[in-house]
Amino acid sequence: MPGFECHGHTVLDGVYWKAALERHRSGPDMAWVRSVLSAYRDANITYFRDGGDNLGVSEAARELAGEYGVRLVTPCFAIHKRGCYGKMVGLAWDTLTDYRALIRELKRRRADFVKIMISGIISYETFGLVFGGGPEPEEIRELIRIAHGEGFAVMAHGNTPQAVLPALEAGVDSVEHGFFLDEECLSAMAETGAVWVPTHSTAAVLKGQPGYDRQVTEQIVISQGDSIRRAAELGVTIGCGSDAGAHLLPHGPATGIEYCVLERLLGERTNEILDKGCREIEKRFVYPV
Ligand SMILES: [Zn+2]
Repeated sequence: MPGFECHGHTVLDGVYWKAALERHRSGPDMAWVRSVLSAYRDANITYFRDGGDNLGVSEAARELAGEYGVRLVTPCFAIHKRGCYGKMVGLAWDTLTDYRALIRELKRRRADFVKIMISGIISYETFGLVFGGGPEPEEIRELIRIAHGEGFAVMAHGNTPQAVLPALEAGVDSVEHGFFLDEECLSAMAETGAVWVPTHSTAAVLKGQPGYDRQVTEQIVISQGDSIRRAAELGVTIGCGSDAGAHLLPHGPATGIEYCVLERLLGERTNEILDKGCREIEKRFVYPV
């Protein structure tokens, strides 16, 4: 079992995202925050990289995490292009001037890193489909350049080579999810040294669940598994992050689920690979000095 959760959301509860967000509408529900931190302490997880939210919950959690023996880092809120995927946990930009203002706001709030949305989310009805939209490739490169210019590491939520390749070209620090990647993309990851957090459990736990097409879900799980195995062969740095808080991924157990899924793919090299990835994340995703 790893002591690292490299991608989770304190704000979410592993059940239903809308109800989870409601809990914090009039300010972070501190009883909830404490219950999440207790879950990590009890699971012996000492590092938690939050994916952010727009209700101040991950920042509240960061303040208290030390009491639970957890080091929690957060991008505060995630950033998306208006009209594209990301509203659930983030704030939007229309122009790069807006984006720069959001980065200044992150500096003020001492965000540990910047999280950007560069694509939508995957469909469980049609294999290979990603919906919700994202910025254009040139915009993706520029978003990363600007954040790096301010000294921040960049975590990018992205699926498909169309979104991920431009991000890698711009030197993105980590790619989250990364479903449907191809050989070119995986090789670019190995070359640039970006960390990949494939959140394989987000798909794996949906297999056989009501409302999810069994065949499509199975196909997604297999394709992501194949990519992870190939990435390991190519020497990609891989981190263990479950997207804890997402559907059917409760805080605490979620990290173990991701670890088990990865272990089935990586075999006896699991600890060596994931330790390296998690330590790289721990080192890179810190507030710029
Ligand atoms: Zn996430």
